[in-house]
Amino acid sequence: MRPIERVLVANRGEIALRIMRTVRRMGLSTVAVFSDADASTPHVRFADAAVRLGGAASKDSYLKAEAILEAARKTGADAIHPGFGFLSENPDFAQAVIDAGLVFIGPTPKAIRAMGLKREAKALVGQRGVPLVPGFDGGDQSTAQLKAKALEVGLPVIFKPSAGGGGKGMKIARTAGELEACIDSGRREAQSAFGDPTLIIEKYLERPRHLEVQLLGDHHGTLLHLFERECSLQRRHQKVVEETPSPALTPALREQLCQAALEVGRAVSYTNAGTVEFIMQDGRFYFSEMNTRLQVEHRVTEQVTGLDLVEQQVRVARGEKLAFGQDDVRQRGHAVQVRLYAEDPANQFLPSIGPVHDFFTPPLGGLLVDSGIESGGEVTPHYDPMVAKLVAHADSRAQSFAALARALDQTSVLGLVTNKGFLSRLLRDEDVVRGELSTQTIAEKSGLLAEPVDAARDMLAAVGATLFAFIRRREADDFLPGLVTGYRNNRFRDQRHEWRLGDEALTVEYRDLGGGLFDVSVGGQRSRWRVAPGAGPCLDLEGADGVLHRLRVVLSADTAFVHTPRGTVTLREAPRFPAPGDEAVKGGFMAPMPGKVVKVFVKDGDPVTKGQALLVLEAMKMEQTTVAPADGVVKTVSVREGDQVTAGQVLIVMEG
Ligand code: ADP
Repeated sequence: MRPIERVLVANRGEIALRIMRTVRRMGLSTVAVFSDADASTPHVRFADAAVRLGGAASKDSYLKAEAILEAARKTGADAIHPGFGFLSENPDFAQAVIDAGLVFIGPTPKAIRAMGLKREAKALVGQRGVPLVPGFDGGDQSTAQLKAKALEVGLPVIFKPSAGGGGKGMKIARTAGELEACIDSGRREAQSAFGDPTLIIEKYLERPRHLEVQLLGDHHGTLLHLFERECSLQRRHQKVVEETPSPALTPALREQLCQAALEVGRAVSYTNAGTVEFIMQDGRFYFSEMNTRLQVEHRVTEQVTGLDLVEQQVRVARGEKLAFGQDDVRQRGHAVQVRLYAEDPANQFLPSIGPVHDFFTPPLGGLLVDSGIESGGEVTPHYDPMVAKLVAHADSRAQSFAALARALDQTSVLGLVTNKGFLSRLLRDEDVVRGELSTQTIAEKSGLLAEPVDAARDMLAAVGATLFAFIRRREADDFLPGLVTGYRNNRFRDQRHEWRLGDEALTVEYRDLGGGLFDVSVGGQRSRWRVAPGAGPCLDLEGADGVLHRLRVVLSADTAFVHTPRGTVTLREAPRFPAPGDEAVKGGFMAPMPGKVVKVFVKDGDPVTKGQALLVLEAMKMEQTTVAPADGVVKTVSVREGDQVTAGQVLIVMEG
């Protein structure tokens, strides 16, 4: 057995913390690594020791294998856990860890390599009789050959980066005319995201489910499955909600699926934790790929089996035999996880970057929260904008979904736009609750994207923000007695606060009656409220009907962020006069976030028609195409291919 005393976690955020918690519970010490953007984040503070890797960009920090090995040497770590993403599926890194005399907490470099390329993996698995989606995984990558093969497979087809992962760079072609564009942009994204432009082709299944099986193997010949997870609720092939057990499986089908997954694992003598992914349609499943690492959604399996997968990974890595057999692994109850992201569902899920003024999750039994962010932290453009994973475990599927939806309602993330409301609506959707899922479900439920109009909620938020601001200002004034602040509230005179909610004006007039009581009028509607401010952002508002509303309010510059159990409301101070530079360039297209211009299709003076592509921006590893909203003429193209742009920078100006 190989002793492990100190584990370096080559990752960041919630997963680094999650791994270190288990490592510490096992009596081992922990080493964090970090980039300049993460210097004061929770995972760094949690660790027993921490080492700076370099600049904010992943390639300057979490992808620097040599710097990570050096950090292990400097701190005396004897093992490295890669987490997920970054170097977790890089066989050269795993080998370098071993060559440095350290333990790699994961599978063998050989197994990682064998499963790393979809093309090779499918060939290997196909030989063992595991069903594959019909397609082309072959050699010749010329555009002509890829086009011909796609037509042979039969449209629609999906092109996937062979070296891909995380649903990135996949392109669907439904007509022969689209093939070339799909191949071009697929290659470009494959090259930029994975450094390898090779594409594979598969028949595109229209409404499949995504099912996967967790495997765990030791170095003594035991390979077990820990049952399935269903991850059909996806957006652009990226998982959003994950659960176990799957509502789609009968005991017989479950057994077949788990046996197929074991067969895949055996093909590469798999050790440690890994996941075999399948897509399933009309009761038939097909191997899709194997992820040779821990997955974001491993928590639901842990909840239902009672096993700590990170603990098992460490035990296996130090040479222990698994202490249980296949029959000891049971599914108890139901677990469901959501990925809470800083992104705007109503605006094409655009990532939201910036400070997190308030992050709060309710202390509920059966709820597990993994997060690498805390109040006062920040979502930066450098990494994935995930704020947290929330997992609910209950006796039944219905209960776990209801509990998670309620937990989301009580979760506060103030400062950023998040998908929280969307997730809670999704978990309550009739089809979702019935377990009728496919990878298309989210795309088909566009009605759930936007926050529903709720005048009562907005009114409550406006009252809360106004009274909170008043009380905090008064506290500050009281704190500085005798100081002439140039402004003094008269408690008993009517006061006014003008807010803007989107394009709408909301005027709140109020009078302090003393003793925490206020008379308030919003848009002419009068009401009386009792106010009890709590610690930090907490504010209790009691209406005349005696109902208590628990709000959380953050005031930042000219904005009030208000958490209510019915959704988050963002109010801005009505501007007294427009600030210079506030007026957007007429007809201008601005970069929604920092990124790189990868393609410009037009030049100054070009006539364009509605829907025509103007340019492609790559931001957060995704390509976004800007299209003309109407017929017109390009007045000026302000950027060139390869330009790095900042959020709000004007890219193109149109006329007409
Ligand atoms: P990645 O490695 O990028 O995660 P996968 O091969 O695992 O790629 O596929 C991710 C998701 O893409 C699947 O869960 C499914 O939603 C969708 N997908 C993949 N292959 C197909 C296919 N042949 N037909 C329909 N959808 C597919």
